[in-house]
Amino acid sequence: MGLLSEGNPLSWEETKQLADHVRKHGIEQFINLYHRLKDREGDILKWGDEVEYIIVDFNEEQKRARVALRAQDLLTHLNEKEAADPEGVKSLWRPEYGAYMIEGTPGKPYGGLLAHFNLVEANMRYRREEVSALLKPNEKVMSITNFPRLGSPLFTAPEYLPTPEKELSAARSLYFPDEAIYPGHPRFKTLTRNIRMRRGEKVQIKLKVFKDKNTVLPVEGAPEGEPDVVQLDAMGFGMGCCCLQLTFQACNIEEARTLYDQLTPLCPIMLALTAASPVYRGYLTESDCRWNVISASVDCRTEEERGLKPLKENKFRISKSRYDSIDSYLSEDGEKYNDVPLTYDEAVYNRLREGGIDHLLAQHIAHLFIRDTVSLFSEKVCQNDKEDTDHFENIQSTNWQTMRFKPPPPNSSIGWRVEFRPCEAQITDFENAAIVCFVVLLTRVILSYKLNFLIPISKVDENMQNAQKRDACSAEKFWFRKFSSKNLCGKPNTSVNGKCPEGLECKDNFELLTINEIINGKSGGFEGLVPLINTYLESMEVDADTHCTIQQYLRLIQKRASGELLTTASWIRKEVINHPEYKQDSVVSDKINFDLLTKMTDIQEGRLQETSLLGQGNNSKTKDTIPAAIEKHQCNGNC
Ligand code: ADP
Ligand code: MG
Ligand code: MG
Repeated sequence: MGLLSEGNPLSWEETKQLADHVRKHGIEQFINLYHRLKDREGDILKWGDEVEYIIVDFNEEQKRARVALRAQDLLTHLNEKEAADPEGVKSLWRPEYGAYMIEGTPGKPYGGLLAHFNLVEANMRYRREEVSALLKPNEKVMSITNFPRLGSPLFTAPEYLPTPEKELSAARSLYFPDEAIYPGHPRFKTLTRNIRMRRGEKVQIKLKVFKDKNTVLPVEGAPEGEPDVVQLDAMGFGMGCCCLQLTFQACNIEEARTLYDQLTPLCPIMLALTAASPVYRGYLTESDCRWNVISASVDCRTEEERGLKPLKENKFRISKSRYDSIDSYLSEDGEKYNDVPLTYDEAVYNRLREGGIDHLLAQHIAHLFIRDTVSLFSEKVCQNDKEDTDHFENIQSTNWQTMRFKPPPPNSSIGWRVEFRPCEAQITDFENAAIVCFVVLLTRVILSYKLNFLIPISKVDENMQNAQKRDACSAEKFWFRKFSSKNLCGKPNTSVNGKCPEGLECKDNFELLTINEIINGKSGGFEGLVPLINTYLESMEVDADTHCTIQQYLRLIQKRASGELLTTASWIRKEVINHPEYKQDSVVSDKINFDLLTKMTDIQEGRLQETSLLGQGNNSKTKDTIPAAIEKHQCNGNC
């Protein structure tokens, strides 16, 4: 989840005193790194995925599933392999927020070959097997977005009680014991404590319960006057969720800015399409996604900053949590769609401008830097701003947004990158690989055809909220750029940066589309993202195996979008509601949870072909080297 500095965390009081120090030096560090790296050219497309996993303990006798607090032990083994052969390992493993979570990435990023799509799923399968080999017989590694009974009584193995009254508790949660926070690195508890202390109270996460026939109100723990709210009170409820992320290297900084912007309107679309988390603390809710939960789970804004009190101690009103959708575009084409006022400190912005940073990038960085550091290590306080970048990374890596613009790390061969962060984790490697390949192909199509998907930021924000609603993928509509409108020149406004070929000013137009129309196309209107990808692929040399792999993935995306297949969230809802023990009371009991997760393990391991989720025959068997994949790949006769 970001920078893992070594050393000793400072107390909140000490950290708070150093907020301006970190800001000042972070800005200087950014200016220096920018000038070192702004002219870097010729990096090639590289990309990689990150999948987060939960370790689940299944108790067959009691029919209970709990999160297994095993991450530290597993990482010790997994990281030993990496230390022994850093260049050769096929996977890299990192800690995540939960003591029951791990994050896995491929050992090396993938490159520009389309044949690399054959490796993604195989590598994900390898990762799962690698972890599985270290597990006890009753444990499973699962790529589920949220553990449905996270925060319910005794949800961890071993079991711990929360200690809300304890002075030294990091979270002070009524539901989420500190033992469920990853213990192997101080960052996680420090962030938990400091976010709570900065805010001046515990974080507060509210979800509407899904009201069924027998739902009992008030829901346990509901706030006063809001009986239908499932309330959560700890960072772990959000940061303890899993997601699927992608990072792309661009050939230069300009291309990175373009990708950052063009992928931004696709974030809510991909969130709706990958929705996978309808259950929180054992209740079915009205939400299908983790996003607002995780956003509120690290919302360190004070009452003043949230607009509940007049400004006295703090400088700004701040409209969003430090975990949220981005607030401004970075490319010149994006500038006119920056319609949401950006909060930033003029002095910081001016310093960036004096330092030679252009307006759009300066306001982006200044806006990130309205946040105070919430985790500082004593060894890192004094830095050489010419070479170090820790203070910059400190603020950058605790702005958890839908997109991240990543400068090259110091002294490395890595170029300018953007990270795509909205997607929820899916049950199977097949689904996760499908999403990854779809988004990578989109970036190729965007850059090759110079497509323009930009819509005003305010509309992206609106889409983000709609994307999370129950069954949004089939039921909601989303703002999208209108691609068929006739413009002044009389020609369709299809592409090329919204610029009319005759040089006339093309009029922007936006319309509300369903996910189906965005992915599969609308007759007489937008061609559809998958058809665009297929047009692109027709112009490329694609070998038969790669073609087959890609088409299986695109079919899954298309069928999820059209409603022929369920989203993971809708499937989970269906499973809960049809469970014989479900009492139409919104409650996901231990037994329902156990059966749901057991079924998921059957699906992830291929014992059960769940056609409502995966369709028929969508079970590709890609191998983990290209020649092997080309030789042995099974096509299922479908493509
Ligand atoms: P984060 O800051 O999000 O934790 P990580 O360091 O975990 O980022 O890596 C994210 C992804 O970036 C991984 O999938 C990795 O394979 C990929 N990656 C590594 N090097 C590059 C590169 N040069 N270009 C693009 N992606 C890369
Ligand atoms: Mg990571
Ligand atoms: Mg990441």
